[in-house]
Amino acid sequence: MIAGIDIGGTTSKIGLVLDGRVLRQTRIPTTGHADDHAFAQALATAVRSLLADEGGGSLEAVGIGAPNANQFTGIIEMAPNLPWKHDVPLARMLQDRLNVPAVLGNDANAAALGEWRYGAGKGYDDLLVVTIGTGVGSGFIVNGSLLLGSAGNAGELGHMTLAMDGRPCTCGRKGCLEAYVSIRGMRQTYAELANDLDLLKEEGVKCIADAAHAGDRAAQRTFEETVHWLAVGLANAVAVTGPRRVVLFGGIVRSGDLLLAPLKKAFHSALLNIYQGRVDLTVSALPDDDAALLGAAALTTIPMKIRK
Ligand SMILES: [Zn+2]
Repeated sequence: MIAGIDIGGTTSKIGLVLDGRVLRQTRIPTTGHADDHAFAQALATAVRSLLADEGGGSLEAVGIGAPNANQFTGIIEMAPNLPWKHDVPLARMLQDRLNVPAVLGNDANAAALGEWRYGAGKGYDDLLVVTIGTGVGSGFIVNGSLLLGSAGNAGELGHMTLAMDGRPCTCGRKGCLEAYVSIRGMRQTYAELANDLDLLKEEGVKCIADAAHAGDRAAQRTFEETVHWLAVGLANAVAVTGPRRVVLFGGIVRSGDLLLAPLKKAFHSALLNIYQGRVDLTVSALPDDDAALLGAAALTTIPMKIRK
């Protein structure tokens, strides 16, 4: 069995994975621990308690997906949405406590590996996985390996500039894909089109989808614009790594007829002609509750390249 751990801003999920299935899972708060050591201890305790519930069995490894995680060093580096403002060597901390190898990786890369090993990307050695939520994350499988780059941080599609001097992004730059396509970005587009900034206080995008279905023109245009930005961003990414398949993950992509059908059309017409007919676009087939855990567990299946 492999323990998969997904570190989120408020909650962290812990699961036991065997042959691409989550056997058991639990969660603990990410916040409220005395320090990072107490947090690592709570994670290790949760893993042990899942193993006991499973009636024993041997643990082979631990895979941890986290924001701002450096796969080369096993360190979470000053993640803005996590409680610790210093570097946390979480891989080593769990390895010491559980006595099995631990691999830490960026959460978007974990999602990509999960789709590649167990989900809609199975069998595709050239794959792009894009997760759309509060932000936009991406992981690239190229020639059968995860693209990491010189410092372990390659593949930030969410911060590809699409609009020169466009909308400000959380990264401090302007016009990034994420500033338009994320939940936050879509709410902003809707508020601007409806000329009502109070709409920004709403949560999620379901209200926009409901409004669009009810015939609200600003809501429909919000989806049209989101489709446009996403199609252009994906087509640009295809021109760099030449994936055979693109897999989308996240609540927004489940807005069905409002997003996926028009996106497929816009994506194919945005592609450079040499890629047309050679790349398809689909949504994740993994259960929402399991995807992050399967991805974290899949981190342990790739050969580690450690660089200082
Ligand atoms: Zn940005």
